[in-house]
Amino acid sequence: MTTSPRWTARTPDDVLGVLADLRRADPPTHGGRVLSYVYDSGRADLDAVAARAVELFLPVNGLDPTTFTSVAALEGRVVARARQVLGGDEGTVGSVTTGGTESCLLAVKSARDVWRAADPSRVHARPTLVLPTTAHPAFHKAAAYLDLDVVAVPVDTVRGTPDAQAVLRALDERTALVVVSAPSYPFGVVDPVAQVAAGAAERGVACHVDACIGGWVLPWWGSAESPVPPWDLRVEGVTSISADLHKYGFAPKGASVVLYRDAARHRAQFFATTAWPGYPVVNPTVLGSRSAGGLAAAWAVLESVGEDGMADLVAATRSATATLRAVVDATPGVRLVGDPTGPLLAVAADDALDADRRVDPFLLVDALRRRGWLAQAQPALVQGDGSSLPRTAHLTVTPVTLRVVDDLGAAFRAAADDVRGLPPAAPDPGLAQAVLTDGLPEDLATVMATLEALPPDVVRPLLVEVLARASAPTA
Ligand SMILES: *Cc1c(COP(=O)(O)O)cnc(C)c1O
Repeated sequence: MTTSPRWTARTPDDVLGVLADLRRADPPTHGGRVLSYVYDSGRADLDAVAARAVELFLPVNGLDPTTFTSVAALEGRVVARARQVLGGDEGTVGSVTTGGTESCLLAVKSARDVWRAADPSRVHARPTLVLPTTAHPAFHKAAAYLDLDVVAVPVDTVRGTPDAQAVLRALDERTALVVVSAPSYPFGVVDPVAQVAAGAAERGVACHVDACIGGWVLPWWGSAESPVPPWDLRVEGVTSISADLHKYGFAPKGASVVLYRDAARHRAQFFATTAWPGYPVVNPTVLGSRSAGGLAAAWAVLESVGEDGMADLVAATRSATATLRAVVDATPGVRLVGDPTGPLLAVAADDALDADRRVDPFLLVDALRRRGWLAQAQPALVQGDGSSLPRTAHLTVTPVTLRVVDDLGAAFRAAADDVRGLPPAAPDPGLAQAVLTDGLPEDLATVMATLEALPPDVVRPLLVEVLARASAPTA
């Protein structure tokens, strides 16, 4: 409090003006130009009802649904809606969380504690978490927080999905949980859920379907000609599933659901204690005090959309995705990874062509950005068996994409033309230091190529330092 300028009160106009200025520097959250992070339904009425719901429930504390009974009522309604959509039945229970990471973390916590409780010798033992290399990092985080060992099973470099038998071979008496994705975030492909879940059940291993991104879109995605293979709670052997409301449930950030086939696994997710002289503590999720705003907004949006509304929004998303797929297929130098089911596309360089006709995905991402479109660069990965997954450009398609898909397609073709035949982005050994002192450059291709090339043990602390410095204290 000594070195900073005096902390004097500012007017609402002043502070709101500052906030508006800061927002202007952000990429647009609406309109379809940002092809990750944001999920725009394109329906202003949904944004309006969400904002009003947040305002109403912002001060309500989700810590204690016995005091704030509105929280219990809303959570019960959202879970009921989710289990209806995700193939559950009257026995299905679950929780509303603040996001996919929390839903996944809780599924791992539940599985770990059920695994430990099954045998007295396991009380302090360290179980494993088996997952395909394409599983979301939320599971690596959960394993790190909760003391599990990750067993990563390579996926096929062409299809982007794991061989179900290879996943099942990784299961043993140490396995607390096996994870499959519907679909995976990097490549948008659905893992062999039914085969893995059935094999896991035979072996007495819990199976989580990570439908964080697919849970509110796949139910309406399939058609008579191309049905989505079974992936939800209707699949025998699936013990839990996660689905983010703040993605294709079109809720503001801060809402997801995790569901369990049976109540015991749900209860194992809770934490309760009386070991202090304060109020009896029982937390179903990670946080203590939290606003009920996200929960209220998620419920309000779901009820405002309805089943037909969801089908319409997904139809728009599917149509935009099909158009973009056709653009990718028709653009020389790139290829799609795998056969995506759902609204995520991963674009790799077409290595069947000569180098002078290929399009490097990192250069493509920069070229798209210069044309006003934000795709996401995904570095290559060497898997445990030595095989390599390619570097890709990731595109998340949303309902609003349909309104701009012709412009996006044209920008994609033009961006590919901009960089076709250029040498792929290569690592720059001096870059790490430059980024630490000067921050991130506009063009990220060299940064991504450097991250891709450095050993993970070097990259991880570097990433931490870059991000920590980005939000270091300022006046
Ligand atoms: C987004 C996502 C998560 C994690 O969700 P957050 O809401 O970002 O915490 C987990 N799994 C998949 C497949 C996702 O797409």
